[in-house]
Amino acid sequence: MSDCLFCHILSGDIPSSKVYEDDDVYAFKDIHPKAPTHVLVIPKHHIATLDDAKDALQLGLLMQKVSYIANEVLKLKAGYRVITNVREGGGQVVFHLHVHILGGKKLAF
Ligand code: AMP
Ligand code: ZN
Repeated sequence: MSDCLFCHILSGDIPSSKVYEDDDVYAFKDIHPKAPTHVLVIPKHHIATLDDAKDALQLGLLMQKVSYIANEVLKLKAGYRVITNVREGGGQVVFHLHVHILGGKKLAF
């Protein structure tokens, strides 16, 4: 998607602070962190929202990668929070499916 911020990050047109990458996902630091560790995990192909993700295997893979990144890359040993905002009412601003990983402090609900 030519007008998608996160597709521009994937192509390298817009710089980002990469923390992990493989064939399926790209993970980078959120530019406005809400916790000591705040990383975004995105699929490498454009999906606008969670509601547009029709492939259960791809979604499961994405969540497995989120767990791997949180534990093995970010070393969030005490635990972490996973958030996906869905469409305007859910606070989604960038319409390329992404999973927030938040950690590094005790998170109140
Ligand atoms: P959401 O509200 O769920 O769509 O979250 C979008 C997130 O993208 C926000 O937490 C922003 O701080 C983050 N963000 C926006 N632009 C960038 C960027 N260029 N690099 C890293 N994170 C960004
Ligand atoms: Zn995109």
